[in-house]
Amino acid sequence: MRVKINVTGIVQGVGFRPFVYRMAVKNELAGYVRNRGDAGVEILLEGDTQNIKNFMGDLTEKKPPLAQIDSVKSVELSGNNQYETFTIYKSSNEAEQSGSIIPPDIAICNECLAELRDPKNPRYEYFFITCTNCGPRFTIIEHLPYDRENTTMREFPLCRFCQKEYSDPANRRFHAQTIACPPCGPKAYLTTKTGEPVNAKDPVREAGKLLSEGNVLAIKGYGGFHIASSVLLEPPMQRLRATKHRREKPFAIMSKSIVTAKSFAEVTSKEQELLSSPARPIVLLNKNGNYNLSPLVAPNLHNVGVMLPYTGLHYMLFDQVDDPAFVMTSANPPNQPIVKDNDDALKTLGGTVDYFLFHNRNIAHRCDDSVMRVHGDRQVFLRRSRGYAPAPIRLKSKSKRCVVGLGGELNNTACVLLDDKAFISQHIGDVENVETRAFLQEATNHLHSLTNCHSEMVVCDLHPKFTTTALAKEMAETDGSPLLQVQHHHAHAAALMAEHNLEEAVTIVCDGYGYGTDGGAWGGEVLFCTPESTDFMRLGHLEPQPLLGGDVASRSPLRVAAGMLANSGISIEAWLKENQGHLPFGETEARLILNQLGKGVGTIETTSCGRVLDAVSAVLGVCFERSYEGEPAMKLESAALNGKDVLKLNPLLHDDMLHTSIMLRAIFENKQKFSKADLAYSAHSYLARGLAALATDSAQEMGVKDVGFSGGAACNQILAELMRKAVEDAGLRFWVHEAVPAGDGGVSFGQAVVGGFSKF
Ligand SMILES: [Zn+2]
Ligand SMILES: [Zn+2]
Ligand SMILES: [Zn+2]
Repeated sequence: MRVKINVTGIVQGVGFRPFVYRMAVKNELAGYVRNRGDAGVEILLEGDTQNIKNFMGDLTEKKPPLAQIDSVKSVELSGNNQYETFTIYKSSNEAEQSGSIIPPDIAICNECLAELRDPKNPRYEYFFITCTNCGPRFTIIEHLPYDRENTTMREFPLCRFCQKEYSDPANRRFHAQTIACPPCGPKAYLTTKTGEPVNAKDPVREAGKLLSEGNVLAIKGYGGFHIASSVLLEPPMQRLRATKHRREKPFAIMSKSIVTAKSFAEVTSKEQELLSSPARPIVLLNKNGNYNLSPLVAPNLHNVGVMLPYTGLHYMLFDQVDDPAFVMTSANPPNQPIVKDNDDALKTLGGTVDYFLFHNRNIAHRCDDSVMRVHGDRQVFLRRSRGYAPAPIRLKSKSKRCVVGLGGELNNTACVLLDDKAFISQHIGDVENVETRAFLQEATNHLHSLTNCHSEMVVCDLHPKFTTTALAKEMAETDGSPLLQVQHHHAHAAALMAEHNLEEAVTIVCDGYGYGTDGGAWGGEVLFCTPESTDFMRLGHLEPQPLLGGDVASRSPLRVAAGMLANSGISIEAWLKENQGHLPFGETEARLILNQLGKGVGTIETTSCGRVLDAVSAVLGVCFERSYEGEPAMKLESAALNGKDVLKLNPLLHDDMLHTSIMLRAIFENKQKFSKADLAYSAHSYLARGLAALATDSAQEMGVKDVGFSGGAACNQILAELMRKAVEDAGLRFWVHEAVPAGDGGVSFGQAVVGGFSKF
């Protein structure tokens, strides 16, 4: 019998061909296997019918851990057998079909880790030890098919030892494109901040010692540079905060092991599973009672972002020190993408660090670490990047057209939707300047090239002034393809619905800001959407509140609080005077605010949920100034952690609007009576119950069974869980994001599905 099989999915770069070879040999079959670029893997089998049947069983049951099979198509061929043995053929460059994919970067596997520690192994202490089951992929691939010459490993010709393993079908590194060893692979070296070589026999462990002693280092990894420092000593972190202009923003840390992580944080089994998964994301862990790291790591938050080492190099950093963890924050100059090239690092990071730990392999595509948290036993993406991108999100049905979504402005990603696969890019960042715009463009081009598809439609935000809107218009014009602008919160809702294959849903979308269809500043919305329509119904929203000073107010929770309190009829003069020290321009600014309030002119309004949380944060004295995105709301959640609903306010709804002034007023008036924790919790409770009531009332009226929660505020565990309870108590199903970020990292995906599935 002769059969030709085509397998698509994540079948390149995951040891799939060697696996096919072993299964063919095991089942006494002849023929070949070859990569077909974007078209997946082609297998030709000759032999006994039963053996072929067994092979087909092995193909799906015994596949390599990282392989993901989307489809297996086989056709029987006529003619006589032509092969005597089974062979792995070199790649062909054919690319007839589209949509096959390359895997994300994968953390060092246990077998490689054991070899790293084995003095008898030729790769003993080799910092970039990898095999077919682990190592970089996305960050080194320039184009498909995934062969060494198409990656940045091409500059490291194999030595005889590696070549032998590479060609040995019985070896774990058979056809491992990242195979390398100390004589032939990438090298690590240490330099001063100006690039002068530092003579160190063991540069990686020397770097670990330098960190432990209080130096700040830039360390080159898979997808870019990290800035690293001690988590125990204050001076290096103070220096880092000053030079990075990050007064309060939490730093992610890399913990030596899961055991050391448990010494300072609570780790649930779900969190442990995520931390040690091949993707190795940063996971936000609650600090425990023995938390002894510097308060400068994650100031005034109840949690800390922790990841485990994911390369041999990371493990070796901890070898000769007692530090439980190191700060490992993405090295990016303000508002710029993570630094990936050695020259650029010297230029842009030299002023921040004392030393560089370089290696000499180029990074083809930068990729920040992913960030997650766990609600109960549900994973929540705060950032979906290394370890996940560009693996596609699988949809239940096929898109009408190939579409690209360019996202919004902050925490952006791009998304290419092709058939039933949505390829979301790595984290791009805030697209506000030429550098991030160029990165977005480059990432979008790369997605197009990896998927071998050219978008028939460009989708972007409704905001007329976003950089991404301008870029989308340019792209559409160049390609002569239609441009679709999707309202920000509609995109959030569409993303959630596509993730769960919902045909209709009422979705609560809460975040900081999105441009509304009326040009207003939206952010606490209840929407009804269906996949067919490019339009949606706005069923309800939060009470519009004044933003005194517009954009300035979004950085100043005190201003938002002042506007809201005045709105609720409270005389705020004394309170503002008391707190004027927290305003950047003190008394003058306080007077200006009062003056503006009296006149009510030049004030824009917002329905933003984020701003309401900001105001509560300021009234409770939790946070007066927003130095990073989401800061007041995150700190408010931390403050509410052990609180209870002491106010038990009935949500005040009318005209499809949830009043928020009365809630803030109640908090203000009860400041002396209850604890911060209880009042912070009460605010969460009011908003969650109120928004849930708006949504469930409408859903029941319309006969809709599904209610969703999306937007950046859906990362807030207290809001999400209180809302779930209220919705489920009303007999409806409650949905949250699991595969894409609830925040703006999921907007490009939402845009793409609106473009791809709607009747346009
Ligand atoms: Zn490995
Ligand atoms: Zn070698
Ligand atoms: Zn948003």
